[in-house]
Amino acid sequence: MSQINVVVVGAGVIGLSTALVLSKHKNLNVTVVSKHMPGDYDIEYASPWAGANFMPVGKESSKLRAFEKASWPEVDRLCREIPEAGIHYQECRVYGRKKDEGTTVGIWFQELMKEDPWFKDLMPELRILDKSELPPSCDTGMVFKSVCINTAIYLPWLLGQCLKNNVIIKRGVLTHISEAPSYHSTGNASIIMNCTGLLTSKLGGVMDTTVYPGRGQIAVVRNKPGAMHTTSGTDDGSDEAMYIMQRAAGGGTIIGGCLQHGSWEGEVDPNLANRILQRAVDICPSLAPKTGKVTELSVIRHGVGLRPMREGGIRLEKERIGKDWVVHNYGHAGYGYQSSWGSAWEAERLVLEILEKEGKRAKL
Ligand code: FAD
Repeated sequence: MSQINVVVVGAGVIGLSTALVLSKHKNLNVTVVSKHMPGDYDIEYASPWAGANFMPVGKESSKLRAFEKASWPEVDRLCREIPEAGIHYQECRVYGRKKDEGTTVGIWFQELMKEDPWFKDLMPELRILDKSELPPSCDTGMVFKSVCINTAIYLPWLLGQCLKNNVIIKRGVLTHISEAPSYHSTGNASIIMNCTGLLTSKLGGVMDTTVYPGRGQIAVVRNKPGAMHTTSGTDDGSDEAMYIMQRAAGGGTIIGGCLQHGSWEGEVDPNLANRILQRAVDICPSLAPKTGKVTELSVIRHGVGLRPMREGGIRLEKERIGKDWVVHNYGHAGYGYQSSWGSAWEAERLVLEILEKEGKRAKL
């Protein structure tokens, strides 16, 4: 069986999921090369900073919606069957406020807040909340069963699954996409998977100028909320958000946040940090059951991550660059985990298309 060499550039949730899906084909010989790896915390590396939960936001006819639909059954299966992946079920409560329509956060969560959501048959146990069940500041609400992924467990788990399937993992920093084949364990490769997230905007041969950062600031606390909570916005500005999610297996509770388009700022803003904590306690008093005050929150750390935004949404397509085939898989903004499996399977389909064109076959 002749081997086909593939290099995956990037070891975020998108690169690792893509590598894992491709590595299930016996004749695909996969190497991952990346500047950052699971275990690193860096402003250029989005994946560790995510909450990460599953709240569908894909608009009609978008790739994102298709990938969210495809990804949920797999995330659900991992949660049920693979405890070491670090995922647990959480009730997800979402609250809409009419005044957030058209704000930065309101637009992000537009589909999530609809009273007749497209995902009513996807997410289990979905129920519209009665007015009496809403916080006083909110007009609408819904609850459904979702998950929270502990990224500090899940990313190393994905990496471990790749190693188990004989994927070679390497550190490397590419200045141009055409350097990728030289990182393959054999020194050559005919297919490159571009999973470089935000840094795609700076990668030679691609330099996608429609990719930009969506800054998110978070706090991780030891307190337990009882359920995940999200509102359609806040009174502190169009791009300030309120979400709370408790990670699996002692990972703490992530409290966010904001969506600051175009900001590369990696430092924590202490004033924003105070607003983030206050908003969370206001919406979810059970975070501070004794006093109802922010001072009861036990902060593990504050952090900042940059979501890989892209005008026009996720890019998943194949392109010839020089003599190499490149499959692009980037631009997953604030929904890379909940669209990861759908994206990886679409990337796989494009690889199979390339091989078919060349009279080759990948074998499972
Ligand atoms: P990254 O994780 O940034 O990985 C890119 C990889 O490419 C890195 O390994 C990097 O080193 C490598 N790379 C880049 N350029 C080069 C180069 N030139 N040479 C070598 N390697 C290179 N999503 C959800 O689904 N649910 C959530 O609840 C959620 N919450 C979020 C909260 C915050 C605060 C943030 C910031 C994001 C959140 N997201 C969430 C979004 C999610 O984190 C991203 O969509 C996802 O991590 C993107 O993954 P990626 O692999 O494309 O990018």
